[in-house]
Amino acid sequence: MRRRWLFADQLGPHFLGPAEVPGDDGLEHVLLVESKAAFRRRRYHRAKAHLILSALRHRAAELGSRCTYVQAEGYRDAVKAQGDDLSVVDPTSYAARALVRDLGVDVLPSRGFITSQSDFEKWADGRRQLRQEDFYREARRRTGILMAGDEPEGGRWNFDADNRLPPPRGAVSLGLPMPAWPVEDDIDAAVRADLDRWEQEGIAFAGEDGPRRFAVTRAEALTALEDFIEHRLPAFGPYEDAALTGDWSMAHSLLSVPMNLGLLDPREVIDSVVGAWETGHAPLASAEGFVRQVMGWRDYVWHLYWHFGPDYVDTSNALDAHEALPAWFRDLDADAVQARCLSTALAEVRERGWNHHIIRLMVLGNWALQRAYDPREVTEWFTANYVDAYPWVMAANVVGMALHADGGRMASKPYAAGGAYIKRMTDFCGGCAYRPDRRVGAQACPVTAGYWAFISRHADEWRRHPRMAQPVRGLERLSDREELLAQESARGSHAP
Ligand SMILES: Cc1cc2nc3c(=O)[nH]c(=O)nc-3n(C[C@H](O)[C@H](O)[C@H](O)COP(=O)(O)OP(=O)(O)OC[C@H]3O[C@@H](n4cnc5c(N)ncnc54)[C@H](O)[C@@H]3O)c2cc1C
Repeated sequence: MRRRWLFADQLGPHFLGPAEVPGDDGLEHVLLVESKAAFRRRRYHRAKAHLILSALRHRAAELGSRCTYVQAEGYRDAVKAQGDDLSVVDPTSYAARALVRDLGVDVLPSRGFITSQSDFEKWADGRRQLRQEDFYREARRRTGILMAGDEPEGGRWNFDADNRLPPPRGAVSLGLPMPAWPVEDDIDAAVRADLDRWEQEGIAFAGEDGPRRFAVTRAEALTALEDFIEHRLPAFGPYEDAALTGDWSMAHSLLSVPMNLGLLDPREVIDSVVGAWETGHAPLASAEGFVRQVMGWRDYVWHLYWHFGPDYVDTSNALDAHEALPAWFRDLDADAVQARCLSTALAEVRERGWNHHIIRLMVLGNWALQRAYDPREVTEWFTANYVDAYPWVMAANVVGMALHADGGRMASKPYAAGGAYIKRMTDFCGGCAYRPDRRVGAQACPVTAGYWAFISRHADEWRRHPRMAQPVRGLERLSDREELLAQESARGSHAP
């Protein structure tokens, strides 16, 4: 009998079957290993631990007698005890790749992404700057997705002018139907009981393990995909960058968890989205915006993880950022924070281990960038607290994009912004103790003032930078610069 070892992020049918014809042909026996040691290594969000254990156990239940399910301390001994006729799809981290090779398991090429590593390397070869937009266009051409011959559908690669709108004026939500939440079952109840027991034994978790919000089975994942396409895809493009306090999911797909667990093949997700545009259900701007996220961004950060190498996270600190995460940030203590953007973002993480892209990048990432939080600590924080986080997705998103710690290998300039951006794209500033247009004084917005303090710290190196020279000139024109810098230095690591 053929036997396949599946990691917890390889749970869909496309991780079974031979390399030539991926898919579950019903012939393989499956090994699933639940490693407790993984949860001792860092303080994970409890909702994340719940999702992973629930996904593994649901998969085992589906496979029934075709699955050997091992609950062990670590992978190594558990797999060694299974004999030597196992194959595995190349896993998604450097550590796991080293382990499967060390164990002598037959390793098949990786799956779960749309573009291949060899195509990426061919594209990257000899390029000075690996621009995401160039990668994305090349991927569209190569796959033919949303292409009319050699031209992009609609005659444009980019619908940013239609997308990225601020939230509708005065709205408290986008008014879309509530996403179709999964229904918890006995397996979830058993996971909760085990996690309670583990906590009593001393394994620490962060955050709340509220009702499970994300898909952990193939059936739930397909329902989540259908629900997104039916109810949220049409509004996805226009509002993909907007945020509202009372509408945490907005028009987002909530598919990163099932895609990263390997339950959905990103190609099938994109095909469904493109199909919805073809039948007139969704506008091209939304379908293109979504294809860009999945094939343009998800695949791109996956390839960069391997391209930048195993030391990228540990050795990148181009902005010399060494501040330790303050306790309120580290412990998701939203209630200690007055700045509404940060308290809303932290409360979302505490409740669900999730926020949408702009909150990750322009609220939490922007804050960590401005305050010079140590990139390794920030990466560790995102990895532990986000339900969809895996090492491959952290490197480029946190180190490259949010913190600019790689000195521009990934992004040509830091994604830094003051409170005006947050005011435009969210409703967080309404009712906040601070004012986004105030730089100094009791109501000085810590994000606005923090932005200028950040520019000031790097002014010498950016005075001739093609994209940062302008903010440096802006800083030099501020009449209250000295007062602002003293104020922000006194703020230190106190909760804003
Ligand atoms: C600092 C930071 C940390 C992030 N951490 C993660 C993470 O741990 N796991 C994760 O999957 N994504 C991460 N992202 C990317 C993005 O924020 C999430 O994929 C998205 O918010 C998940 O929600 P969604 O499924 O509703 O996404 P949607 O907004 O509906 O987007 C659709 C899909 O596009 C993909 N996608 C879009 N942007 C990215 C990106 N930059 N990198 C990878 N995939 C992308 C995701 O698979 C997502 O499900 C991070 C981004 C930043 C800036």
